[in-house]
Amino acid sequence: MRYGELVGIYEKLTSTSKRLEKTAILSEFLKTIPANELDHVLLLAQGRVFPAWDRREIGMASQLVLKAINLATGIDQTRIDEVWKKTGDLGQTAHDLTKTKKQSTLFSKELTTKKVFDNLRKLASLEGAGVVQNKVQLVAELLTSATPLEAKYLVRTVLEDLRVGLGEGTMRDAIVWAYLMHETGASYDKEKNELVLPEDNREKYDAVIKGVENALNLTNDFSAVARAAKAGLAKLADITLAPQTPIKVMLYPKAKGIADAFEIVGKLAAFEYKYDGFRMQIHKKGMIRIFTRSLEDVTEQFPEVAKLVEQHVEGDDFILDGEAVGYEKKTGKYLPFQAISQRIKRKYDIAEIAQKFPVELNIFDVIEYNGKNLVNTPFSERRALLASIVKNPHDKKIRLAEQLVTDSEEEAQQFYQRSLAAGNEGVMVKSLKGEYVPGSRVGQGVKVKPVMETLEVVITGAEWGEGKRGQWLATFIIAVRDPDTGDLLEIGRVGTGFKEKEEEAVDGGITFQHMTDLLRPLITKTEGRIVAVRPQLVLEVNYEEIQASPTYSSGYALRFPRFVKLREDRGPDDVNTLQDVQDLYDHQRGR
Ligand code: AMP
Repeated sequence: MRYGELVGIYEKLTSTSKRLEKTAILSEFLKTIPANELDHVLLLAQGRVFPAWDRREIGMASQLVLKAINLATGIDQTRIDEVWKKTGDLGQTAHDLTKTKKQSTLFSKELTTKKVFDNLRKLASLEGAGVVQNKVQLVAELLTSATPLEAKYLVRTVLEDLRVGLGEGTMRDAIVWAYLMHETGASYDKEKNELVLPEDNREKYDAVIKGVENALNLTNDFSAVARAAKAGLAKLADITLAPQTPIKVMLYPKAKGIADAFEIVGKLAAFEYKYDGFRMQIHKKGMIRIFTRSLEDVTEQFPEVAKLVEQHVEGDDFILDGEAVGYEKKTGKYLPFQAISQRIKRKYDIAEIAQKFPVELNIFDVIEYNGKNLVNTPFSERRALLASIVKNPHDKKIRLAEQLVTDSEEEAQQFYQRSLAAGNEGVMVKSLKGEYVPGSRVGQGVKVKPVMETLEVVITGAEWGEGKRGQWLATFIIAVRDPDTGDLLEIGRVGTGFKEKEEEAVDGGITFQHMTDLLRPLITKTEGRIVAVRPQLVLEVNYEEIQASPTYSSGYALRFPRFVKLREDRGPDDVNTLQDVQDLYDHQRGR
């Protein structure tokens, strides 16, 4: 496929903010993509060259892209810099500058999506001497053949910042509209931009959407799901989970307390310690692979965990769900998440850091076992299976999550207090009949924790400090997510909770210097003291209150936000949603 065709779709998507229109545009496009190109074109459509769960990233700094523009156009870097300052968008800059160049020197070859995809993938794999120059050349090669519009989206894709407002919800609906609309009894009225959905067919439509969503949750692979949907509902239903392909983890809404938890999940219920570590989804099929909650592969980072699973869990293939929690070597006491968080992204001295920051694996679920999909098996049976396959469990190594099955509020309260005393965050309360529902907070289980709800937010920008903080980025612009459009919506600025001095940061604290180091490579634009950054770094923040506010694009503002911890185990797709904020706002005391 010509890259220009895809770029045309990007332009159309950007020209509307209406979800239904976006769905229609994408679904029409889906019908035109040849089957053998579906994989890479769908990734590019999302602004990616690797699926979300793939660890590889393009990782190219803006300054290098600027060099590539220089190499492709011959325009000197100062001039490019000037235009960049004006447009604030390096993609737009590439567009404007290629437009002024003579046609004859540019557009020498017509770009294909495959060529773009292949070159961008190569960026991630380059290593060793001359890597910088080679990266610049790969991008420059593409830019030389690109039309101005192509250059704009190419640069944004390289910077992993496409911004065409295409969220997972829209992708999902577009798959239905493109291939399964005849099964739903619905149609799209283009004139009115309306979904025509007779009342009698509502259930049918919802069921088909659910079917696609379910397939996506199990595979996290839009092209596999699109291909199945194209072949019909039966093929879609055939999609099942498979060890080695990460599935979206089940999430748990919050209950107000023990009584409320019983009300939601029913009696009897299973109470479990809520460990303050991070999620591990562990797959075995041949080898063991470990994924985080945002489905990043961290097998390399936790070789000792893979080994323990190999030794202690019986079975040819399986998918387990659990929480790895750090503990102090001397005392064995649990440590809060931030103490071990650095292990997640660590690329060197792995054995050493594993020694220094050991983790205990608490397994709490099994989703697949020896070829059998267990998502519809009741939780009590899954837990019983776990108990039978985890051999010689060992504290501080590998064990089942501490559990108590009860219908007594008093016993539950005591268990909750015991969990807190042991250094945990609270308890999880799970329905014994509950299914494993990937991807959503559905109330098969709830969490109970004493502290005020924190929010997970992604940094989209920052401001350089003043005075003695002058050399650091010292205030951070934070955003939540609109899952339908994929847009990140600002909700405030946070500058408290960080440390100024290294000495103050020994116990898991984070300095401004550290924040600055993490953010500097992500800067995409500078305007005075404010910078925009690629949304990658996820923070957990607390706050006094949520206020309605026109200042930020989310329509809300956090009052007195304060940094709690870095969430290296989360990506921008995992941050809290606008809906979460609305719910918290509605439930604030006195409202
Ligand atoms: P939260 O991050 O506050 O939404 O709480 C849910 C998280 O708690 C899950 O994603 C797990 O990482 C973690 N967790 C800790 N212990 C358990 C447990 N026993 N069962 C389920 N999740 C747990």
